[in-house]
This record gives sequence, C-alpha cells and structure tokens, in this order.
Amino acid sequence: MDLLSPKPLTSDIERYAVFAGKDMRYDGHLFLGVTSTGIFCRPGCPARLPKFENSTFHDTAACAISCGFRACKRCHPAGGDTALIKALITLVESAPDRKITNATLSAQGYDPSTARRQFLARFGMSFIDYARARRMALAAKTLARGGTVLDAQLDAGFDSASGFRSAYAKHFGAAPAKGSAEPLFIDWIETPMGRMITIADDTALYLLEFTDRKNMRRQFDRLRKTQNRAVLPGRTKITETIETELAAYFAGNLSEFETPLATSGTDFQRQTWEALKTIPHGETRSYAQLAEMIGKPAAVRAVASANANNGLAVIIPCHRVIAKNGGLGGYAGGLSRKRQLLDLESLDLKSKEG
Ligand SMILES: [Zn+2]
Repeated sequence: MDLLSPKPLTSDIERYAVFAGKDMRYDGHLFLGVTSTGIFCRPGCPARLPKFENSTFHDTAACAISCGFRACKRCHPAGGDTALIKALITLVESAPDRKITNATLSAQGYDPSTARRQFLARFGMSFIDYARARRMALAAKTLARGGTVLDAQLDAGFDSASGFRSAYAKHFGAAPAKGSAEPLFIDWIETPMGRMITIADDTALYLLEFTDRKNMRRQFDRLRKTQNRAVLPGRTKITETIETELAAYFAGNLSEFETPLATSGTDFQRQTWEALKTIPHGETRSYAQLAEMIGKPAAVRAVASANANNGLAVIIPCHRVIAKNGGLGGYAGGLSRKRQLLDLESLDLKSKEG
C-alpha cells in the first residue's frame, strides 16, 4: 500500500496522459486547467477531455486558482472527500472492530467497486484494505499497552486465532507479540490552502504537512525510520485537536497552537525549531536573525536547511523566516502558500489592532 504520492511526472505529455487515462493515483496531486473554458479539473473528471494545446497543469488546486481557473462543477477539484468516502469512514469508525466485506457494502446500499476506486485514489488502498488496516490498528494498540495476543485478537474482532495471526503477520511483517510498538495514525485534513497530512498517536502530533510539499516522501520515510512504528490510517484525539486548531487558525481566530508535538531531528534541528516557535504570529525574521537566536550567527545555511526539514508545517512556523532583503526565501510547501500564510497572519493582526 502506498499512502503517499505516485511517481513524479516530468513532461506535459505524461501529465496529459493521466487525464486521458483517468489515472486516479494522481488525484490530489495534479490538476488540469483548461485555457479555452477557464475551468480546472481533477483526474477522473467525467467532462470531455480538452485538447492537449488547451491544457495547463498544476500541482495544487491553489495554484490553478491563482492562475485564474475556476473549479469544475462536475469533479469539484478544490473540494474535499466525496460523500461516499465520508459515509464509509463513518461506517468504519462506528464499529472499528467489525469485519466489512463487499457483501456488507452491497447490503447497505453502497457499490463496492465505486468504493474500491475512490479509496484507491484517496488512500492508495482499497476500502476493504482500509477497513482491515483499521482493525489491525486496534490489535496493535492492545499489544502495545501490554494486552495479550488473545486480547488483541478479540479487540480486532477476529473469531479465529489463526486467522488473526496470519492477517497480522501479513500486515506488519511480523507475528503479533505483547509489548510491540504502538502504531502511528495517518489522516488528512482539508484546509483553505490545500489538504494536509497528519501523523499522530494518542499523545502527540508527529507530522503535519501539505500533501504536495516538496520531499514529502522523504519526510514520511524519515519519520517511519526514526520511530520504527507502523503507520496505519486512522485518527486519534490529537488529530481531532489539531483539526480544530487549524480551522480556527485559518479563520484568523488562533495565533498559538497548543497541540502537543513530537519532533525528531538532530540537536541542531530541534534548537532551530524551538527558536522558530518563539517568532510571534504576524512577525517575520531573516535566516541570519534566526541563526543569531540560537547563538550560532555563522550557521545561516544550516539554519535554512533545518527550516526546510521542519515536519510540522504551520505550527512550527518556518514560513515566518524570510530573506534578508524582504524577499520570501524558500518554502517546501510552495512560495505562493508561504505568501498566503504570512498574509493571513498579518491581516489577522491588523484587524485586531483596528
Ligand atoms: Zn472537472
């Protein structure tokens, strides 16, 4: 299963082929702007494919919008999850230990093949696999908390010990054992500036990134390696907290986040990230000032690189560091987004002053 992005495309011919072939793996990662109509679409849109010469390609919906395209009314490229995805996630969460099969879906009036297709596009796994991963997460949690293999089996809703053992081994690559590491949970949050990926457990947030961020894959792999824990789809109370805080932040009603964070990096990186957190909402600093803040004025380049490796976008405000000359500097989440974040924060401040 691949929870992240598909392989990068290098030419517009390849990008066009995604839309011609309705390749849903790129949904959320590639948008098609049609110059003749001024509309932009996501892969799989039922509307007629435009001519190649009328097609422009954008990595994010925000980019397409800033280029002047309007969202297509048929495929809702700027919108969030489909009604079907929302309904099926609710179905799973209402009883996470229940076994769900295609027959269950049909009996409830859902079309299993549509469910399969939409989940593959969204999560990189079919709905049935998603539901099974959710059950495995329950088992992993029980084991991490010192429960027995039998407890874990029952919590995951398995009647048979052998069925549980083989499903578990298939999922985690190892037999279930008491005291194994608690899994991390990955989920997605829609924001006005694009979809964000969250990875959390019950106590802290480990990753928060725009899904189209540069080097997303590297961030994800590094986290998995340093934590050495399975990453499964699902939400925790930390996911709920950050979702609420982000909504308030983007509405201009929150300037300091309180969600507990777990950072993993070198001492230098952590120092830089701690310093970032002290830059007040509505203000900016230069890379040189940030280097001074941590008492290493010569380490401007190293500070910039630590900044770029921040895995908790928005909350650890690396977007508040700009070039000395007042230019934007860099941003892994894209410069237009950095501009938008800074605008949001300064606007917010002005309205408070006024
Ligand atoms: Zn469309």
